[in-house]
Amino acid sequence: MDSFADSPPREILQCVAETLGCSTTSAEVAAYLDQHDELRHLREKFLVPKIADLPPYCIYLVGNSLGLQPKMARKYLEEELEKWAKTGVHGHIQGSRPWAWAENNIEQLMANVVGAKAEEVALMNGLTVNLHLLLLSFYKPTATRHKILLEDKAFPSDHYAVESQIRLRGCDPQQSMLLLSPRPGEETLRTEDILEVIEKEGDSIAVVMFSGVQYYTGQLFNMAAITKAGQRKGCYVGFDCAHAAGNAELKLHDWGVDFACWCSYKYVNSGAGGLAGAFIHEKHKHTVKPALLGWWGHDLKTRFQMNNVLDLQSGVSGFRLSNQPILLVCPLQASLEVFNLTSMQALRRKSILLTGYLEYLIQHYYSRDAARPARPDGPARPHVSVITPSDPQQRGCQLSLCFSVPIRRIFQELERRGVACDMREPSVLRVAPVPLYNSFSDVHRFIETLGSALAASSQTPQE
Ligand SMILES: *Cc1c(COP(=O)(O)O)cnc(C)c1O
Repeated sequence: MDSFADSPPREILQCVAETLGCSTTSAEVAAYLDQHDELRHLREKFLVPKIADLPPYCIYLVGNSLGLQPKMARKYLEEELEKWAKTGVHGHIQGSRPWAWAENNIEQLMANVVGAKAEEVALMNGLTVNLHLLLLSFYKPTATRHKILLEDKAFPSDHYAVESQIRLRGCDPQQSMLLLSPRPGEETLRTEDILEVIEKEGDSIAVVMFSGVQYYTGQLFNMAAITKAGQRKGCYVGFDCAHAAGNAELKLHDWGVDFACWCSYKYVNSGAGGLAGAFIHEKHKHTVKPALLGWWGHDLKTRFQMNNVLDLQSGVSGFRLSNQPILLVCPLQASLEVFNLTSMQALRRKSILLTGYLEYLIQHYYSRDAARPARPDGPARPHVSVITPSDPQQRGCQLSLCFSVPIRRIFQELERRGVACDMREPSVLRVAPVPLYNSFSDVHRFIETLGSALAASSQTPQE
């Protein structure tokens, strides 16, 4: 069988189980899928944490929060420390990674991951800083067009950034911050509802600012449709791709997105506080200018003549302020080189099966039906519902699992058994099998471990 045929995960699992003569939930299925995974060698490019006493390594399902360390990160860092020690200031222009333009060498690799042209991407600052810099140029409120449309439950930093930008221009967040919630009783936003608000309120919206993938629900938004709808009403459309970069297949250029920003320490594995990304579409190259200036926005060819006559680089490159921290460039380079061994298309293909496998096992063991007691008066077991959309086109690799019981105790039991994932109290566990380094066996082990964690948390008394 073609290892990752584009059939629905359920069918692939049934086909594999038949081939092996076992059940779909057997560990043999996971082992078979791993053997036939064309991307399995990429796991070896990363350091998977070990937890004392627990064989053989932890089940790392939290790459949505902090990606694993690429093995080459240490080597590249040591090279630059060595260069600094031996050559001092000459390191600015020497070696394979001259500090004065080192980030330029990896922009193309970053651009490939987000579906952009290299000249549309800058690597600089942190995510929230970049969001501010972009909003300073794209958010130009007028008396009639002054709103920013965003999700009601946007990531806190995005919420604060938007709120403060609105105040900075003398507007009132009460009037100008347009927050969109799911319908009552629903967890995720419907595309049709997003498009309808844009259609209805678009004339008063200056900027539509969504996340690419919602950090809490794992919902992947239809960025192409949102962009088109917003721009038809004369709005600028930008995306925070923190949870989308390296996770979903992005086409920022082709979709005509006006601007975007993302951090690189989640699915892009650059280490905590890594160098963030910013995107401005090339159509704005000569029209949208940075509000704040620094010498790193000056054309490299004449930057060091220091004559104080600014020769501003066009597009997003002109938004750079400071010289880039080489120690942050190194791990990002190490990670992007791993991405360059494959493609987002291939990663997505594996991701759909890997996350589909997780969903299948969750439903098999922990759906409301599966947890129903054998006898009508028997005790109900805890069950799990998946908040994340079931349509693979509307999600990345993360599933947000909502438990029918408080999660804290289960989470502690999972941690004790070597599972790394993310808890959002009271009852949600975010689990992200990352196609770059997670295996089908990781998912299978997680499901088994969840079983013993649930049993342990219901047996022992609450502390
Ligand atoms: C992770 C994340 C951030 C974090 O912002 P930093 O500036 O990198 O600290 C902000 N927004 C979203 C949507 C995120 O997912």
